[in-house]
Amino acid sequence: MKWVKSHSEIKGNDTADMLAKDGANQRCEKEIKLEYPKAFLKEILWKNTKKEWSEEWKSGKHTKFKMEDTKYWLPNLRLDLAKKLEKTERTEVSKIIGLITGHCAIGKHLERAKLLDEERNPRICRLCNKEVEDKGMESIKHWIENCNSTIPARFKSFGTMSSAKIREKWTISKMKNFCNSQGIDIIFRKDKCEVEEETDEED
Ligand SMILES: [Zn+2]
Repeated sequence: MKWVKSHSEIKGNDTADMLAKDGANQRCEKEIKLEYPKAFLKEILWKNTKKEWSEEWKSGKHTKFKMEDTKYWLPNLRLDLAKKLEKTERTEVSKIIGLITGHCAIGKHLERAKLLDEERNPRICRLCNKEVEDKGMESIKHWIENCNSTIPARFKSFGTMSSAKIREKWTISKMKNFCNSQGIDIIFRKDKCEVEEETDEED
């Protein structure tokens, strides 16, 4: 396809002009019918939009940060979570977001944000007191997938011990239960968390 100057006696351009005028002057005898019902077309559009949205999320095309932790828990678009989150209390939303983004008082985040106490080794998990596997740091991934100390909380909250199932099928209420399990609450202490929450008195 190529742009050409209009009304300039260019062969082809004038013919196209003439045909367009002819077409516009003709009465259309036939009623144009869409081959598919509107609802069906709408569904296809929505499906494609979601696909594109998901691909953009995965590729990180429009995001400044890598968001590895968030993408680990949200590898795909989860509209069910968004709807549920709207109906969840603010303090609980804040905990869940902290958990899935990793922005809470967990070793990995504190080390990155340079907020860790000097005597604390981020490689040692505070719950099981062991060094995190594969030279990792105390992280939400370790707590939800490998930590021996969180086994009862994990099973009670997610109803499974399979990491893949937890990752794929977690819900707001399951994550909320995990956040509020005994021991887990140490990561929501304000003095240890970079992301300060507004207090209710300020509202
Ligand atoms: Zn542990």
